[in-house]
Amino acid sequence: MTFHSDLNSAAIAALCATGASHVAIEVVAETGSTNADLLARCAQLPGPTLRIAGQQTAGRGRAGRPWLSQADASLMFSLAWRFKGPLHALVGLPLAVGVALAETMGSLGVPVQLKWPNDLIKDGSKLAGILVETQQAADGGVWAVIGCGINLTMPDALEQQIGRSVSAVPWLAQMERNALVAALLSRLAGVLAEFDDTGFAPFAQRWNALHAWQDRQVKILDNGQLLQQGIAAGVDQLGRLQLHTEGGLVEIMSGDVSLRLAQE
Ligand code: ATP
Repeated sequence: MTFHSDLNSAAIAALCATGASHVAIEVVAETGSTNADLLARCAQLPGPTLRIAGQQTAGRGRAGRPWLSQADASLMFSLAWRFKGPLHALVGLPLAVGVALAETMGSLGVPVQLKWPNDLIKDGSKLAGILVETQQAADGGVWAVIGCGINLTMPDALEQQIGRSVSAVPWLAQMERNALVAALLSRLAGVLAEFDDTGFAPFAQRWNALHAWQDRQVKILDNGQLLQQGIAAGVDQLGRLQLHTEGGLVEIMSGDVSLRLAQE
């Protein structure tokens, strides 16, 4: 099978579903961070914009953590999308984005799962990360810049640099790259439009159906400090993790806390 890595905005646009036809598509060979690029331009964007980079030199995760990548091995893009707002209505957005990515991969023959709040997991390890950053729009709306980093393959050198067990999707790496981006963008656009109308509630069941650690004993950590421990029972209508602790049910909001399996 041929390995295609040539990203092309016209080819992606031609392959997108009609729900994504209004999205402007930009491809760059290399940049620091596609999220940073779009965040700097939100006020000038005429409409939803997808920016894909062949390589990122300063990829970001949550709380300033790094997102590492290698040209050809990683798929990195950000989608700037304007929501009606207010800002607090976007609290479940990273989870809805996870649903969109995971469902797309499932439909392409690669079942993946979700780890609360916003990681894609395959074979127990992290396959993709999602970073949502927001900016208030002048008219009361809110711009969200939704960054996605997906490991298509995982070269040894990159895995060593990351320094933890990670996953990849070699099957999708063999797919024509523009078709893969178009499939992801088409479903994402549909999910974002729906989310803007309804909020997270209709996505809770879809998220829970993909939950990697359902009924597992987990720990909630804040900068390495144990905050809570209990049995993970999926998310509620707002995207809060339901945790059964010794003291009863605790609802965890997604902030900068991290989730780990208890035995790790
Ligand atoms: P965690 O994954 O530790 O629970 P998080 O979900 O907040 O935290 P993100 O902000 O999504 O993490 O991503 C940053 C973290 O992901 C980094 O600290 C690093 O450990 C890990 N990481 C960096 N690059 C990759 C990659 N290409 N694949 C998988 N994991 C990565």
